[in-house]
Amino acid sequence: MHIHIFWDSLSPAGLQIPVGRNISSIIGVRASISDNPIRMMGYVESRKQINAQVLLDGIQVYKHHHDIHDPVLLVISQDLFNPGHNFVFGLAREPVGAAVISSARLGNEYYGRETCDDDLIDRLSKEGAHELGHLFGLDHCSNPECIMFKPDTLDELDRKKKIFCDSCRVKLPSQIE
Ligand SMILES: [Zn+2]
Ligand SMILES: [Zn+2]
Repeated sequence: MHIHIFWDSLSPAGLQIPVGRNISSIIGVRASISDNPIRMMGYVESRKQINAQVLLDGIQVYKHHHDIHDPVLLVISQDLFNPGHNFVFGLAREPVGAAVISSARLGNEYYGRETCDDDLIDRLSKEGAHELGHLFGLDHCSNPECIMFKPDTLDELDRKKKIFCDSCRVKLPSQIE
């Protein structure tokens, strides 16, 4: 098994290698990175956001057409929402092994702080590993340092470590090592 990371052309350039490497080491499975082949649909003009569910539909169809059974993580730069929520950092659809994350709210500049690639790499890695954790059947975790903790704010995301806590780690499929 390996993880497919689809990196959209508008996503932060040059960060795909370190992010892929981090995600691979957090989860313990190989990750391959390629240019995003999914058509970017679901933009809602009035919200200036993309409906994450529409992108997950797109990944689902693409996986089906190309007979991909391994998990797919799409990384985009546009802000994401899930109907019923103002925004989401990312979203996963476990039964089809599809997930998407957005860099829109992960950069310091969004919060009026100085841009820092290392911070952005860290956050993309944690968010990506979190959504992939859902694809492996994990639920949210109450341990604030665990990858599966659900952060509502950037500070909560930054507080997390790039690890699954012991009780989450044992739930990861055994073929992952
Ligand atoms: Zn989650
Ligand atoms: Zn945990």
